[in-house]
Amino acid sequence: MTISTRTTGSIEAATPGDIVLSVRDLQKHFPIKEGALQRVVGSVKAVDGVNFDLRRGETLGLVGESGCGKTTLGRCVSGLTEPTGGGVFFDLSQNERDRIDALLAIPEEGQSEEQRAELEEMARLHRVDQLEGERWKRYRRNCQVVFQDSFSSLNPRQFIKDIVGRPLRIHREASGGELTDRVVALLEQVGLGSQHLYRYPHQFSGGQRQRISIARALALDPELVVLDEPTSALDVSVQAQILNLLHELQQELGLTYLFITHDLSIVRHMADRIVVMYLGKVAEAAPTNELFERPNHPYTAALLAASPDVSDDSDVPMPPLEGSVPDPARPPQGCRFHTRCPVATPACGWELDDVVRWLQDEEGVFDRLKGVERTDEFGGSLEFADEDSANLLADALRSDRVPVAMREAIDQLHVNERVVEIRFHPVTEVTLTSRGPGHEAACVYEALPNELTG
Ligand code: SF4
Repeated sequence: MTISTRTTGSIEAATPGDIVLSVRDLQKHFPIKEGALQRVVGSVKAVDGVNFDLRRGETLGLVGESGCGKTTLGRCVSGLTEPTGGGVFFDLSQNERDRIDALLAIPEEGQSEEQRAELEEMARLHRVDQLEGERWKRYRRNCQVVFQDSFSSLNPRQFIKDIVGRPLRIHREASGGELTDRVVALLEQVGLGSQHLYRYPHQFSGGQRQRISIARALALDPELVVLDEPTSALDVSVQAQILNLLHELQQELGLTYLFITHDLSIVRHMADRIVVMYLGKVAEAAPTNELFERPNHPYTAALLAASPDVSDDSDVPMPPLEGSVPDPARPPQGCRFHTRCPVATPACGWELDDVVRWLQDEEGVFDRLKGVERTDEFGGSLEFADEDSANLLADALRSDRVPVAMREAIDQLHVNERVVEIRFHPVTEVTLTSRGPGHEAACVYEALPNELTG
């Protein structure tokens, strides 16, 4: 696959005034309801405290496995989903951005009434989910989305002329002959033409349908396009054509892209900067070359190792990722990646759930487990059907049968007849720290440990 490599919009060229939008402490939690009364018993934390700025003319790649929250984040940015906390701020001056950052840095309970009112007013004017009237219309024009599945995103009963012309009609931009001319110009911009005006979506190939989706997204002359896995459903050769088209359009029109994908080999060619997400949080963010040459988070290293196009010329000898992404309704504490991390340490956030997860592979003992009681996030007890099973678990937790990091994280371990009481050393959440200009990672290691760097 040959893809044009980006030459413009590099982050070095960007200045704070070039920021198109700012994502601040963005959260999207979906409630989990149970029973006839649909009581809320928890929430799935699809996006959980994400921050970044999107700079004019750049492509920001948002990557991670399925379920990491990247699509939900893209929907919040495009205004299709309302966040449950934080927000996506648009059209901020640098002073306003600094002010919002200063206000958000104050814990809610510590904010004065004036500060709260100021924040509310800023949200009313700039937060995407609060915009109304003309401001909301302006944002809708400025931010467009191209989805992965062009088949379901194009109305099968409408001519291409009506599909591509719809935004122009809704926003009263054009009608009659002028509308037709504008649609033809848009189709030509994406490599189609007037001969396609009166055809239906099913008469096109997957690649052509994606061109139609792109033409529709460009109809209102947006600044920002959210590309949600735009080539994942296409053959490799067609993928390259669409990526090259997106690249050319960006150069020609000065577009800003938020490029959501699970495919690192694509963002390597398309993105100026990359944000790696894991279980709703940012694991690492860096300029593209820096991320590929000097990953600082074991999860990024694992993604690189798992990507065939990338791992061939990568120095990171990381074993492929094992296991699946944990349940986002109950994400691991500490570093959320610790359940799969090959270099996890005792400080990475071990908890009672890790013991239960480990037990699930120990069928004999797991079958004897009768109950789990958490006293707090760092401790609790496991009750077994008999004393022997309780002693078996306690012996295992003192041996090298369990991960050494988990064993060393245990502060107290007591067996009381059929009950094993466990307390882990308390740890705080692992947060993003600077690893160089524009480079942040959320890992207890300051650089990848030797076993991952060869
Ligand atoms: S903090 Fe770093 S070492 Fe610890 S589990 Fe997370 S990624 Fe692995």
